[in-house]
Amino acid sequence: MGVHFERIVDVEVSGEEAGALAERMVDWMVAEGLITRELSSVLVYSPHADEGYLPGPDWARAVADASDPTWLPGPVAVVVGRNHHVGGQGEDEAEYAVCPRCGTRTVIINYPEEFRPDPEVWQPFEDGIAAWKATGQGSAPCSACGASAPVTEWEWDSGFAVGALAFDFWNWPPLSETFRAEFGRRLGHRTAEHTGKF
Ligand SMILES: [Zn+2]
Repeated sequence: MGVHFERIVDVEVSGEEAGALAERMVDWMVAEGLITRELSSVLVYSPHADEGYLPGPDWARAVADASDPTWLPGPVAVVVGRNHHVGGQGEDEAEYAVCPRCGTRTVIINYPEEFRPDPEVWQPFEDGIAAWKATGQGSAPCSACGASAPVTEWEWDSGFAVGALAFDFWNWPPLSETFRAEFGRRLGHRTAEHTGKF
């Protein structure tokens, strides 16, 4: 059996605020008994984190169905820092981007005819994301309305996100609706969610 992950990305928090917010979220999950403060690298394959917090005694409270006694969750990796995140097996490019100003969808990978991004279309987004990673500021222009919007405001396909804080739940049974809603409320920001397998 492969290892899978469920990820929640905060797509709004700034790089400067991400560390403190991560600590508050860990404090809360520890207080709820969902994780412990003990770190482990076993089963953690996060691209930007080597280890995660081991599940706590009450981890089952976070999942939709804990009835399989053989399904024990792995660590929760907390990824602080401005990164792009990909779901599934992970492409490094977005399939499309939706302009936050005019709502026009820019197709980057023209599935199913193409499986690679159009380099001319992707380049300005890639540049904007690179600038955002380096400085916290990065924009990409919309070819429809001409506006240049921050890469953190563009909407991406469901397998791609840019954000300064992410939580990778390694091998957890599917997280419950209630838990994900509460998690989002405590972050206080918009989130993106990914799943994937290794
Ligand atoms: Zn636009």
